[in-house]
Amino acid sequence: VLARTPILAAARSRRLRHLVAAAPVTSEVVRRFVAGEDDAAALAAARALTARGLAVSLDLLGEDTTDAALATATADAYVALLRRLADAGLTPAVEVSVKMSALGARLDPALGLEGARRVAAAARDAGTTVTVDAEDHTTTDATLAAVAALRRDFADVGAVVAAQLRRTEADCRDLAGPGSRVRLCKGAYAEPPSVAFTGRAQVSASYARCLAILMAGRGRPMVATHDPALIDLAGRLADRLRPAGEPPHEFQMLYGVRAAEQDRLAAAGACVRVYVPYGSEWYGYLMRRLAERPANVLFFLRALGDPS
Ligand SMILES: Cc1cc2nc3c(=O)[nH]c(=O)nc-3n(C[C@H](O)[C@H](O)[C@H](O)COP(=O)(O)OP(=O)(O)OC[C@H]3O[C@@H](n4cnc5c(N)ncnc54)[C@H](O)[C@@H]3O)c2cc1C
Repeated sequence: VLARTPILAAARSRRLRHLVAAAPVTSEVVRRFVAGEDDAAALAAARALTARGLAVSLDLLGEDTTDAALATATADAYVALLRRLADAGLTPAVEVSVKMSALGARLDPALGLEGARRVAAAARDAGTTVTVDAEDHTTTDATLAAVAALRRDFADVGAVVAAQLRRTEADCRDLAGPGSRVRLCKGAYAEPPSVAFTGRAQVSASYARCLAILMAGRGRPMVATHDPALIDLAGRLADRLRPAGEPPHEFQMLYGVRAAEQDRLAAAGACVRVYVPYGSEWYGYLMRRLAERPANVLFFLRALGDPS
């Protein structure tokens, strides 16, 4: 957590972006976390993961769209992807994740919602679901309002909440109703202490409180973490709190992170979904993954040829 703020601040520099994008070895680093640039690569990754008994959520990379045409094109791309997934027989094991800002929500909330509706309708036609990613805290109210609006027509749209935000325990209470799919993650954005817990232990404690609320609720908890202590806790809370007859929780992890643990949990009978990003707009995503873990920055610097 301490290293994250400077790394995410540096990531906003144009010079760094050019350096990273131009470095020849960058592609190797990107490949660890990103499935590829196009639909074909996304489908190939989805096929390989489902063959291992894992479920998948595909994320077309892109965020903070400030161009209405690009926002519309992003929704179109999701619609086309969902058709291809259904044609390939990959649904319902494969769903999609979407960012409201990629659909133009910052530019115009109505445009974002219209795009999200088209994606949700295409997901339903394809026999699968869509989950709306959490972005930084300035977007939380608008994103959760969009999810609520979508759920009036598409009840299985997934919400995402970030345990690092102080508000999230209350959001979990609101979201723990029947059938509600809720992904709980720690939160990937650098947030100010006025709205967020900033110490690792505090974030984990918040995650545990939120998880207990979701497990005791009547929705579908989606436990998105690689943290071994929280994965253990999820199993124990499920045994203690899960109401009879409600769907079991699922685990979610990122493509390229703790693959052996993904297989271990699936072999033990859990539903495990891998979040698989693809597309050419990988910069922001990659920077958040590097910021999460100093070892990833070292991995990255080594790949760039830095002797340190
Ligand atoms: C399926 C999924 C969906 C997500 N969706 C969102 C979202 O919509 N919005 C959002 O803000 N955030 C999202 N996140 C990111 C999340 O908020 C965290 O930033 C991220 O998962 C790291 O936190 P952690 O819970 O794994 O715990 P950490 O304490 O960061 O990690 C625990 C352990 O996991 C391993 N690990 C974790 N991250 C990495 C990594 N990058 N590389 C290698 N090893 C690692 C390490 O062994 C580490 O010690 C998502 C995460 C997952 C798994």
